[in-house]
Amino acid sequence: MPQNPHLLDTPIEFLKGVGPQRADLLQKELHIFRYRDLLELYPFRYIDRTQFHKISELLSDLADVQIVGKITQIKEEGAGRKKRLKAIFEDGNSSMELVWFKGVSWVKKSLKLQEQIVVFGKPTMYRNTYSISHPEIETLENYKKSLLTALQGVYPSTEKLTNRFLHSKGIAKLMHELLGQIAEYIPETLSLNIRKEYKLISKRDALLNVHFPKSEELLRQAHRRLKFEEFFFIQLALLKMKRHKKQVYKSYPFTDIGTHFNEFYKEQLSFELTGAQKRVLKEIRMDVASGKQMNRLVQGDVGSGKTIVALMVMLMAKDNGFQSCLMAPTEILATQHYQGLKDMVEALGMKMELLTGSTKVARRREIHGALESGELDILVGTHALLEDKVKYKNLGMAIIDEQHRFGVSQRSKMWKKNQKPPHILVMTATPIPRTLAMTVYGDLDISIIDELPPGRKPITTLHRTDKHRLSMFHFLKQEIEKGRQIYIVYPLIDESQTLDYKDLMDGYESICRHFPKPTYQVSVVHGRMKSEDKEMEMARFVKGETQIMVATTVIEVGVNVPNASVMVIESSERFGLSQLHQLRGRVGRGAEQSYCILMSGQKLSSDAKFRLKTMVQTQNGFEIADADLKLRGPGDIMGTRQSGLLDLKLADLSKDAKILQYARQVAQEILANDPELTHDENLAICKEYMRAHHKSIRWSDIS
Ligand code: ADP
Ligand code: MG
Repeated sequence: MPQNPHLLDTPIEFLKGVGPQRADLLQKELHIFRYRDLLELYPFRYIDRTQFHKISELLSDLADVQIVGKITQIKEEGAGRKKRLKAIFEDGNSSMELVWFKGVSWVKKSLKLQEQIVVFGKPTMYRNTYSISHPEIETLENYKKSLLTALQGVYPSTEKLTNRFLHSKGIAKLMHELLGQIAEYIPETLSLNIRKEYKLISKRDALLNVHFPKSEELLRQAHRRLKFEEFFFIQLALLKMKRHKKQVYKSYPFTDIGTHFNEFYKEQLSFELTGAQKRVLKEIRMDVASGKQMNRLVQGDVGSGKTIVALMVMLMAKDNGFQSCLMAPTEILATQHYQGLKDMVEALGMKMELLTGSTKVARRREIHGALESGELDILVGTHALLEDKVKYKNLGMAIIDEQHRFGVSQRSKMWKKNQKPPHILVMTATPIPRTLAMTVYGDLDISIIDELPPGRKPITTLHRTDKHRLSMFHFLKQEIEKGRQIYIVYPLIDESQTLDYKDLMDGYESICRHFPKPTYQVSVVHGRMKSEDKEMEMARFVKGETQIMVATTVIEVGVNVPNASVMVIESSERFGLSQLHQLRGRVGRGAEQSYCILMSGQKLSSDAKFRLKTMVQTQNGFEIADADLKLRGPGDIMGTRQSGLLDLKLADLSKDAKILQYARQVAQEILANDPELTHDENLAICKEYMRAHHKSIRWSDIS
């Protein structure tokens, strides 16, 4: 439905005070093309312009301050590029310095002695005197005239913009001009019902107050309203898409719980499923029986038993005559899944194969054939499963075990393997914070395994530095004597990094020296090895033939050796929280007391300290995920920015969880009553939805 361009879509060039050159700069530096974009450039903090400081009260850790006084002396120092301008500034009791390094002659001309001025900037202490470099200066008279609001927004700017006087103040001026012109025409985007129920101020008042707050309270309300709106329209789109998929995409109904599932459950399963595992299986059964396509995310902490759930879901598929596939992010993990499931699957008389990048061509052909003839029941593998040559007779269930979210387009590739899309089950390897899950996986149904199998002992986590190395080795020997096995992990974030590789090999040699043959056997696994060698080394460790496994993060995800009870992480300060948590999850899988030893250098950044402290303090994956979100922000956690989903202007996933929850709930309620947004009361919402829909988010990428 084409729409008439709105006043807010006017190119920024036409705003008074902008013009073509500044417009060009605003576009390049701040992506401001239209009026609307400028309105959505929100201040990132506010200064209370009614607060004045005395020079005698300054502290060097203050942010920007505001002082009234006079310049009593001006002097130029140095020459050429080192030329600077200094002014002595007095407030009646004390004095300080103002300093300029750039535009010296221009500034010098503009300064007047003995005039009452307001100086604004960040004070720093230098040789016992406070100084402000490049302060903003205004005459007291002008200041009083220009004081729009007590709280003054500070806008993001860049050096190029500042050079054209589009510093924070210059932008505020444009904003004032713009709001003066268009405030009346700002359309409301939410319904009156919602605004009443959640006590949200109007869009117009929100925009006026976010830029020029009349009071702290109104600023708070403006933020609340705008954040709500930001979340709301994303949630609306995600939920609409989810509903749409449910309506449109029929999938294969799994109506039977049959022989394979039951036989496995009754005869083979050697332990009782946890309550959480049972609940999640029930949720999945309801989905797959419905005739609609399942799109479900299973979140569970490391070791919560997701693999067995995956297997049982694949047995459901088999009982209904369908094939399944299980895709993992790394070759090692895929291999591990394959080996872990093989015996169980074969005992049920089913056929399973492994397909990875290193599967030989001849073998590959056999697998392709068996897959198309329907002889194969389950295919486990890596990204190789997505290749065009991989064709199924009837794929009914695709399970994706994720390290981080596979590209969304990859997920949708799975669909195209059939006439009807298979059911899709995504499992996350590490918990992600609820807020993030609601956004990034907002189009999926979510199940949470929030219970660990019984009898797991908490893992003792210690932080140690190099000077403890010998006592650490001693401890490892004691554990080996008790029959335990040990992981020692080195950071090798990028397999091509020669320096990291050298660290690993040096470490390996040193371990071999301290743990000599034949008493000790040491395995090593890293990304530069051939995959057969990797597999062989892994297999030796799994069988217990070696006691120590020196490895890189290739073992991060999913590896399961219950007898391994100690995880030593070298240079642990270089790992992210979720990686550390994953690595620690490799131990504590058996009956024995397990340990995780975080080795690090002496000097640590504050972020690194926080990470290691968090690891020592908690073992709860969801708590760790929250800490990680606070530390790194959502974009980094998901690896890449998710096509606009995490590109929030004002709202913050680590702080605004409550507002997000509200927004999702409201979006859900509205769609339940008015799925196509045709009711009169939802007209405003519908309009904004249509407008925003084809804006920044490439929705078609989201499967
Ligand atoms: P993750 O959720 O990290 O993928 P796994 O599926 O690898 O965890 O399970 C970890 C270990 O716990 C495996 O050895 C598995 O056999 C075992 N396990 C899973 N569920 C249970 C249960 N209900 N009771 C006892 N052990 C279980
Ligand atoms: Mg797993």
